[in-house]
Amino acid sequence: MSNPRIVYLNGEFLPFAEARVPIMDRGFLFADGIYEVSAILDGRLVDNAAHLARLDRSLGEIGIRNPYSLAEWIALETELVARNAVAEGLVYMQVTRGVAERDFAFPSADTPPTVMMFTQAKNVSANPMAETGAKIITVPDIRWKRRDIKSIALLAQVLAKQQAAEAGVAEAWMVEDDAVTEGASSTAFIVTKAGAIVTRPLSTALLPGITRLSVLRLAEEAGLSLEERLFSVAEACAAAEAFYTSASAFVMPVVSIDGHVVGDGKPGPLTRRLRELYLGMARESA
Ligand code: PMP
Repeated sequence: MSNPRIVYLNGEFLPFAEARVPIMDRGFLFADGIYEVSAILDGRLVDNAAHLARLDRSLGEIGIRNPYSLAEWIALETELVARNAVAEGLVYMQVTRGVAERDFAFPSADTPPTVMMFTQAKNVSANPMAETGAKIITVPDIRWKRRDIKSIALLAQVLAKQQAAEAGVAEAWMVEDDAVTEGASSTAFIVTKAGAIVTRPLSTALLPGITRLSVLRLAEEAGLSLEERLFSVAEACAAAEAFYTSASAFVMPVVSIDGHVVGDGKPGPLTRRLRELYLGMARESA
């Protein structure tokens, strides 16, 4: 018999079914909170310090005090992963501005934030889609202007992912002013015919992807050519390769965009190499 799923809520490890949040939680009423996701590989957390640094930054940007130190976060995550015996998958961390009578402005400073964490067991390393490559669509980017904050307000991404699901594809790349901003839950990359790896520079227009950061570092260490600049859907369709990165997909090849075949319709050599480099780094450092 498998153990029951255990989640973390406000200082307690609880069976999933017993974890309850009041209806006046500001996360529920206003999406007033942020979240973070780290991958688990071989039972260990991948790129976790960087994810926790982004969590701290997201909290700071919306004026919620970080309830835990880095060491406390790591201890809680580690215990949750162990209690659920997750060898491969994801750990989600979510912090909201807490529970208070409905009113837009912040509640009193002594209102404790709501802290919730759960794990998902998932085959992240041996994902069959990495072999075939992902098909994607593009959609208009209808989000707000502080996309650098990992907000739990994900309605635009929900709608984008639903469009992708209805089109029978894995991801949607969001487009604004003729340039790809990012995927609905990933960072977008292309590889030019000259072999340069291209991704959008960081700004408030997109989330600073943690996997993006590691992939850029690994590419640089491997002596590959990098260009941080905007690119259009037309350039992506005509590129040699395309891929996206995220904590859950690692490095995922893209083989078709809005029905246009990218390259030869198979995962490209540079993309495969970056996936291997990332998995190697994740297995060593985790
Ligand atoms: N952009 C968006 C909008 C995302 O939701 C994600 C997934 N968290 C990413 C990019 C990729 O970020 P990371 O590599 O840190 O998972």
